[in-house]
Amino acid sequence: MDNDARDTLKSPSDGPAAYFDGMSSRRRAVNLRLADQLEIREDEQTLAAWAYADIRRVDSPAGVLRLSCLTAPALARLEIRDTAFAAELVSRCTGIDDNTLGRRGVATIVGWSLAAAVSIVAVVLFGLPLIADRLTPLVPEAFERRLGEVADSQVKTLFDGKVCDNADGQKAFVKLVTAIRESAGLDTSVQSGVLSSSVPNAFALPGGKVYLFNGLLAKAENADEIAGVLAHELGHLKHRDNMRGLIHNGGTSFLIGLLFGDITGSSALIFGSRTLVTSSHSREAETNADSFAIDVMHRLGRPAKPTGELLLRVTGKEGKGLSIISTHPLSEDRLARMSREDQSASGPPLLTAEEWRSLKAICTAKI
Ligand SMILES: [Zn+2]
Repeated sequence: MDNDARDTLKSPSDGPAAYFDGMSSRRRAVNLRLADQLEIREDEQTLAAWAYADIRRVDSPAGVLRLSCLTAPALARLEIRDTAFAAELVSRCTGIDDNTLGRRGVATIVGWSLAAAVSIVAVVLFGLPLIADRLTPLVPEAFERRLGEVADSQVKTLFDGKVCDNADGQKAFVKLVTAIRESAGLDTSVQSGVLSSSVPNAFALPGGKVYLFNGLLAKAENADEIAGVLAHELGHLKHRDNMRGLIHNGGTSFLIGLLFGDITGSSALIFGSRTLVTSSHSREAETNADSFAIDVMHRLGRPAKPTGELLLRVTGKEGKGLSIISTHPLSEDRLARMSREDQSASGPPLLTAEEWRSLKAICTAKI
């Protein structure tokens, strides 16, 4: 839209600004668009999108509105001079002045920094695994959730997947997940989806997100097989294995990042989320997640053995693969255990035959 047209609108929906991406020192002339998020655009290309709730005001000279964003690189800035547009934007940013941390926020950060500082010393003295166990319960949930969000976008990029949303399939999936979640005693903050990637995999991210990959679903022959996998991943969530693994794998550099960097942003997060997506859990964490899954399945009156069969079918006897699979306990051993501790079905099937068919087709567009 041209300028004249824009001036006739009461509330401008786009406006000019200067943008620094936080990576290079280059100043870019951009156009901002007030969509679901604040879109930062250059030559019809969206460079970044900032959620309104994450936008914060930064000190600036008079006549300039200068902004940062919690999920953007720490040094990324926007500068806006158009006052009408600035006012419209500010009215949408609910947390714009939350930068000045409340007393509690400061206390949390100081406390957490102290914990990190003590931990670094402890790491040197005692080694990481012990510290990871001790420190995990101290990681603030808000931090964990944000970490999960960053990891979430990396998962989608890394595995080149979209979340499948065929309506009937989605309905069946929600039914299955809800049954397992309730039986596992986890609250509704757990979110899950089927990702269109052909990799036979599944994993959980901090903050409560579980992904099942279509590649694993394709190899499954019944709902019990998948239910056990989902229950296993919920087990990781419940035990916060991701945070533990992160501290363990990321080690001191992660802790130092937390200590000196801002908790909400930047490098610690990016480093952390990468580690999350590529690393695996300890054998102990896997065994515990399997125990959790067996337990949940039994509480649902369903057998645990099918999950073991699925894993063995996917990996062969070698047990090579990703996440749910790669992490050591050989599929054969896991199947043996799940068979040993199996109970025959005493409850109704988790999905009807038709719902199972819909779930299997969740990544196919509806005809
Ligand atoms: Zn696992």
